[in-house]
Amino acid sequence: MTKAPDIETEILVLGAGPGGYTAAFRAADLGRKVVLVERAPVLGGVCLNVGCIPSKALLHAAKVIEETHEMTAAGLSFTAHAPDLDKLRGWKNGIVGRLTSGLSALAKQRKVTVVTGTGRFVSPREIDVTHDGKTSRISFEKAIVAAGSEPVKLPFVPNADPRVLDSTGALDLADIPKRLLVIGGGIIGLEMATVYHALGSRVSVVELMDQIIPGADRDIVAPLMKHIKARYEAIHLTTKVTKVEATTAGLTVTLESAEQKRTETFDKILVAVGRVPNGKQLGLEASGVSVDARGYIAVDRRMCTNVPHIFAIGDVVGQPMLAHKAVHEGKVAAEAAAGLTSSFDARVIPSVAYTDPEVAWVGLTESDAKEKNIAYGKGSFPWAASGRALSLGRDEGLTKVLFDPETHRILGCGIVGPNAGDLIAEAALAIEMGADAADISATIHPHPTLSETFAQAAEMFEGTITDLMPPKRRTGG
Ligand code: NAD
Repeated sequence: MTKAPDIETEILVLGAGPGGYTAAFRAADLGRKVVLVERAPVLGGVCLNVGCIPSKALLHAAKVIEETHEMTAAGLSFTAHAPDLDKLRGWKNGIVGRLTSGLSALAKQRKVTVVTGTGRFVSPREIDVTHDGKTSRISFEKAIVAAGSEPVKLPFVPNADPRVLDSTGALDLADIPKRLLVIGGGIIGLEMATVYHALGSRVSVVELMDQIIPGADRDIVAPLMKHIKARYEAIHLTTKVTKVEATTAGLTVTLESAEQKRTETFDKILVAVGRVPNGKQLGLEASGVSVDARGYIAVDRRMCTNVPHIFAIGDVVGQPMLAHKAVHEGKVAAEAAAGLTSSFDARVIPSVAYTDPEVAWVGLTESDAKEKNIAYGKGSFPWAASGRALSLGRDEGLTKVLFDPETHRILGCGIVGPNAGDLIAEAALAIEMGADAADISATIHPHPTLSETFAQAAEMFEGTITDLMPPKRRTGG
């Protein structure tokens, strides 16, 4: 016998991360009756609770610690204090708490019904939500799947050992291990390495590819590589971990590269080798929505799946797994589900590693251009010629902008240096607006700021730079 629904709604959103809550709130603002299902007791998903926000809080703490060291060169000495981990954890959790309670208040104001529990589709128009052994059924006219992703687990790692961390465990800050091995030189691995190094761990990083942050250009990553190479215990490139053994002394790890195979013992390891979508955990076969072998759901530009009344957004629809992409898609899906003609037409999605220095890039990268044979011109401005960078005591940054050689329109940008993550937003806007090098260099940027380096990179391309000698090939117009 079919069960009668406990709740009926117009739009059901499954998952309350940045994509899901944005979709729910936008749909409610468009006058729809919305139910938001979330298995965690709070809203915000991975990003707010165990991802972007707590990591940025800890990275700020790390930056303050590092700056006290750097400023000794300027004659400022600070007494070193052992970090009070309980207080630091409490401060971080307080920041998260403020944001998640803010979200609950926003949901209430919008009359979005929040249902706590794990959702599974049982038919194309119904979902069962289980919480504390009780199941309720929700029927919907339209659904938006925003169920996110989870960390990849390596099969040869004793994952149940408390000394093996994923990003969530690393953010818990249970203690500061003497020796920490980070497996994966991507964004999560390097951000957490930054935190643990500042708090006193001896950090090693092992990366499968021949550079850290393989998605970014080598010259943009180089200043970060130089900075951490001088500070961390070791950075092993083109190396893989093939075995991890738990012993009383620690975790004994086998590291293998083309040249050598050796073992080392660490107090803790952080596994940060990517994330997998949660698409296979949702009973979607009962809804008719196609999910591929890896757990991704295919969508069109309206974020609609193969089932016309079911939409999907965020990590579960594909790379890049970034909160700002999910938020944008969430708005598109909510509007499309509410009958508007919205579709995803962003030209670019910026990426940022909040390391020290920060690494950020948007649009075409040089390595992509070379691989795909795309013609480009380039303007690079080294921060050693930026007064603002020098006044921060940091001269290693670089702003590089790629342009179409015919139209001079901006194609992409890479920035490395303090606050690169904030600076990249201007390049994203320039790309969306179809700006050319003259538009960028003719835009008056406040002096002295790091933002000037964006215009100066355009001037390097145009040959109109005065803060440095213009590159020879473009002089004389
Ligand atoms: P990632 O894909 O950024 O990096 C994983 C790294 O691990 C890669 O460099 C890869 O080459 C390497 N790797 C894979 N298998 C390995 C192995 N067996 N041994 C050694 N190295 C191996 O993934 P992540 O850092 O885990 O992050 C997951 C997702 O979360 C990404 O999509 C990322 O963009 C997102 N994220 C974003 C931010 C941010 O925007 N600042 C922060 C954290 C996470």
